[in-house]
Amino acid sequence: MTKRQRTLQVTEWLRQRFPTPLPVYIVFREPTNGPWWDQSEAETKRFGRRLRITLDPRCTIYYLLHALLHEWAHAVDWRHGDIERLQDRGEAPMHSDTWGVTYGRIYRAFFDEQGCQESKDFAAPNRARRQ
Ligand SMILES: [Zn+2]
Repeated sequence: MTKRQRTLQVTEWLRQRFPTPLPVYIVFREPTNGPWWDQSEAETKRFGRRLRITLDPRCTIYYLLHALLHEWAHAVDWRHGDIERLQDRGEAPMHSDTWGVTYGRIYRAFFDEQGCQESKDFAAPNRARRQ
């Protein structure tokens, strides 16, 4: 299994265990040399009524999974109003207390409990899919 497939497999596990208010899809793309917000190795951004998590495919699987859990916590934490507010003001997404609690729950479920193993039973798509 490639690291992209493993990342997408864990994404399917996250969809089931930690539902998000807005549908999420994953894109693998190298950061650009453009504006700073496009230079990140991992980011979550709203496009229409969906959230897009972008991950740098050059990263190791270790980094990809940690980044995915981090970004997924944003996707779970953000409510529609928060996203509008953050994007209208042009502010970078914040790591709020609720994000921290959400990330802790996801991290624990994956690394300390059975998530890492459990996720191996999920389908490993060949390509990122749109929800
Ligand atoms: Zn973040």
